[in-house]
Amino acid sequence: QKPPSLKSGTIIKSTGSWYQVRLDEDGTVVRCRIIGKFRTEGQGFTNPVTVGDKVGVLLSEDEEVVGGIQKIEPRTNYVVRQSPRRKHDMHLLASNIDQAILLVTIVQPNLKQGFIDRFLLMTEPFNIPVKLVFNKADLYGEEEMAIYEYLQGIYTEIGHETLLVSAQTNEGIDRLRSLLQGKTSLVSGQSGVGKSSLASRLQPELDLRTNELSDYSGKGQHTTTFAEMYTLDMGGFIIDTPGIKTLSFNYLSPKDVAHNFREFFVLSENCRFGADCLHRNEPGCAVKEALQEGKVNELRYTSYLTILEEIDEQNYWERRKV
Ligand code: GDP
Ligand code: ZN
Repeated sequence: QKPPSLKSGTIIKSTGSWYQVRLDEDGTVVRCRIIGKFRTEGQGFTNPVTVGDKVGVLLSEDEEVVGGIQKIEPRTNYVVRQSPRRKHDMHLLASNIDQAILLVTIVQPNLKQGFIDRFLLMTEPFNIPVKLVFNKADLYGEEEMAIYEYLQGIYTEIGHETLLVSAQTNEGIDRLRSLLQGKTSLVSGQSGVGKSSLASRLQPELDLRTNELSDYSGKGQHTTTFAEMYTLDMGGFIIDTPGIKTLSFNYLSPKDVAHNFREFFVLSENCRFGADCLHRNEPGCAVKEALQEGKVNELRYTSYLTILEEIDEQNYWERRKV
């Protein structure tokens, strides 16, 4: 008997116990299970394998296209969310991504205060480039445009490009297309921001709606936290994530939060307590000083404090005490 050969591929979908793997050699999608047990790299992940993972699979010898994942290549980066079940654990959302696209809109639905900052807390640990895409530009009047420009100022200042688009009028779609071409992009947003509409503008048969629909059917019960990778005809991949309702960070310590607000971290060099400063009531805090001088944005600082308070309320340290 011939021994089965190990083929390399990429996880494009996970349903918990089964995984879809796209083989590198010809793009065939194979249904796979995990063979044996994987040591999770780092601690506290609820899932051992995620979309974007580069894997080695053993194909079964019979005609059926099934296989076993035997090996996971080291991840260049990854994005996690708080596990829906275990608050202090992390759920791997995707790995090996080139950039993250956060879709937002200022109206319909209104942009939730702090939402962008929360999202950035997911991408910052690996310094994943983020593009903030504001959809529904056709609905923006003078007031909304002023808000857009204000936000654009805040985020470009800290190194995140913003883009104004409309799935309705096609404004900005070419630019969006060129941002995505040839890259692996994680795409996220609250439901209703127009993700499916934009996807079908980019590539008509790219129907993310089905995904959203299956989400809606379980309304209230947001159980699907799995991502899925799609191939773009123009080259590149998008990893669609289920609509984000809320983002919580009980898997982080206050210091993790402080270190992942990038402009605060840069300033912390000048805080009396340095990288230990949480920029709240510490004496000699460079972040608070910069805030007073208008060099740190108030909205960013408010988001930061809110997240710290939430973590405190969960008594993170009490629960983790050994
Ligand atoms: P998803 O939940 O993020 O996939 O959002 P959908 O693509 O389903 O869009 C939600 C609603 O917003 C639908 O009624 C769309 O027609 C509408 N919509 C999407 N993009 C735009 C846009 O650019 N302008 C306007 N005016 N409406 C839009
Ligand atoms: Zn400080």
